[in-house]
Amino acid sequence: MIAAVSVTGLVKRFGQAEVLRGIDLEVPAGRVTCLIGPSGSGKSTLLRCLAFLEEATEGAILIGGEPLGFAVTPDGRRTRLPSGRIRAVRSQIGMVFQHFNLWPHMTALGNVSEALKTVRRLGRSEADDRAMAQLRKVGLQNRANLYPSQLSGGQQQRVAIARALALEPKIMLFDEPTSSLDPELTGEVLNVMRALAADGMTMVVVSHEIGFAASVGHQIAFLDHGQLLLRGTPQEVFRKPRHARLDQFLDTYL
Ligand code: ADP
Ligand code: MG
Repeated sequence: MIAAVSVTGLVKRFGQAEVLRGIDLEVPAGRVTCLIGPSGSGKSTLLRCLAFLEEATEGAILIGGEPLGFAVTPDGRRTRLPSGRIRAVRSQIGMVFQHFNLWPHMTALGNVSEALKTVRRLGRSEADDRAMAQLRKVGLQNRANLYPSQLSGGQQQRVAIARALALEPKIMLFDEPTSSLDPELTGEVLNVMRALAADGMTMVVVSHEIGFAASVGHQIAFLDHGQLLLRGTPQEVFRKPRHARLDQFLDTYL
């Protein structure tokens, strides 16, 4: 089976700082990969590379077997792919951020349908129908005409998830989707993500919700100082005796 995402030897530098130091990771299709690790370990940078919001300095990323951004020749040279190819591969990726970044002047429905009209060039009624179907999926069909300021943080994040889903990605990336929410609102967002996972969506989730990672994650990857220290099933990674760095990390977050 072709991995949904395959990362080999990924290095990312910002100037002198080597933030990702040779990452190898396979994300199986239809499975949930949870990426955990201390603040500053490079989790967001890794997700941003997968979404091509950052360009890898070295290494290769394949999305469904297709190179993302660059092709690497057998002798190791990297050549940038034509922008049409990059767009086609990137369009398979949806991303949800910690800060939902909804358009404040658009309703929930408008936020979800906007890219369908401008990027997918759908007519208004088809775009609105599809957007409504996504809002229903996240349980917000009755909030479609409200503006972000009229929605709770959890509802806003569910709109952001619907917005990403509307573009029909094959892979969904989540970067700390509940970290800016009050604790009582995280559950509704995690439930939407749980349903998406049960639906067979391929997901990569950065989260400090260790309970979610342990119960929903098929694969756990522990990132520390730009390196993947551990990778395996939750049983393998969380089994005692635990890796000392992971133990230290869990102590600070649990
Ligand atoms: P995490 O998401 O695990 O907290 P990040 O990927 O955000 O970690 O950051 C990893 C490291 O990379 C940090 O030291 C951060 O300061 C640095 N970094 C991230 N983005 C940039 C950037 N655009 N320019 C320079 N340094 C960056
Ligand atoms: Mg981060």
